[in-house]
Amino acid sequence: MKVAVVGLGIAGLSICARMALAGHEVSGFEQFDLMNDQGSSHGDTRIIRLSPGEGETYQRLARRAGEMWRFWEGLAGRPLIEWMGGLMAGPQGSPFVQSCKRMSNKPAALLRGDAIHPLTRGMIAMPYEYDVFRQDDCGVIAADATRAFLIKQAPRWGAKLYANTRIAGPIDAPLLSVNGEKRAFDAVIVASGGWARKLLPEFAGKLDVRRRIVGWFKTPSPRLMPIMCVDNEVGLYGMPTPGGLYKIGLHTVGGAVDPDIVASPGETDAEALSEQARLFLPQHDPTPVRMARCLYTMTPDENFLITPSRAHDRVLLFSACSGHGFKYAPIYGELAEEWIEGKPSPELEAFGEAKRIAATGLGGGVVD
Ligand SMILES: Cc1cc2nc3c(=O)[nH]c(=O)nc-3n(C[C@H](O)[C@H](O)[C@H](O)COP(=O)(O)OP(=O)(O)OC[C@H]3O[C@@H](n4cnc5c(N)ncnc54)[C@H](O)[C@@H]3O)c2cc1C
Repeated sequence: MKVAVVGLGIAGLSICARMALAGHEVSGFEQFDLMNDQGSSHGDTRIIRLSPGEGETYQRLARRAGEMWRFWEGLAGRPLIEWMGGLMAGPQGSPFVQSCKRMSNKPAALLRGDAIHPLTRGMIAMPYEYDVFRQDDCGVIAADATRAFLIKQAPRWGAKLYANTRIAGPIDAPLLSVNGEKRAFDAVIVASGGWARKLLPEFAGKLDVRRRIVGWFKTPSPRLMPIMCVDNEVGLYGMPTPGGLYKIGLHTVGGAVDPDIVASPGETDAEALSEQARLFLPQHDPTPVRMARCLYTMTPDENFLITPSRAHDRVLLFSACSGHGFKYAPIYGELAEEWIEGKPSPELEAFGEAKRIAATGLGGGVVD
């Protein structure tokens, strides 16, 4: 089949690679450079947890993705994930922490927050009344390295990737206007992140685009720093990054934006990050050495939205969104294939419009 993929963030790249491997004639279109930093997929790192604590559907997805990450690493000839373990924390009784523990199937008791300071040799501090679950099956994905790998690999399997090629919306049929020329496809997959609401306006009310900020901090002991995900009012998360820095981000902080007009990080952002660094990262200089901005596309229930357009059933919205979509990337191509081939798929059913809320049962408000 002739398949077009609109948007080459991590989702679009993964879909292009897999669909080409499966023998489809794939064209992928990206409005910016392929390694652009405008959407949601750029940056050095992302967190992966194989027991994500977000419900059964994501748990299954994470297990499938774990196997595929190994396959990708074999092809890339280098590790794409560094496994290191992490601390899942929140106020006593936090549904997020409970869910992480339940999904991990690990008998270990929860720790009290004040155990974290000695356990990390003073690098991380948490309030006494916090519950903390030590999760082993989590690690840090080399995000930009993964995109670079797919940008090489997808064409090897036959996909054609077009950079700096903006597809005009709205898309209401498998017919795209490419540099002024009409091109017909058998199917179109819209994996355009925060811009999907412009290309498929029928879903605009369900896709809320938010600005998010991350900041990197000098750490005295990079090797001692675990991943952390905290179910506090800002949804703090943190991870060690290459170059001996520690990156933190705030899952719930940042307003709605037009993806074409996003302010660069400024003083208010630095202050919001520093406040968390002062609370959770003793012995660290609380001033970020650099910051970056990124986009979250939020659905009302924070689940992915993968569903055919009402205007044409051969046009698929593929929104791997809401701040938790990188870790499952290797599976997106398989989901797209299941859709194209009309195979039964519990995931497509869960992330479709009808049964999604009942099927997924999200566990908490923390990015992972
Ligand atoms: C700060 C931050 C931290 C995160 N942390 C984690 C984490 O720790 N773990 C995790 O699993 N996930 C995390 N995520 C989420 C994850 O990164 C995203 O879910 C994922 O990157 C979404 O990828 P995407 O391909 O759907 O969107 P995008 O990366 O935004 O890609 C969409 C692409 O479509 C292109 N496009 C748009 N319109 C058009 C058009 N008209 N024509 C052609 N091209 C177009 C855009 O330019 C863009 O490149 C985080 C996200 C952010 C922002």
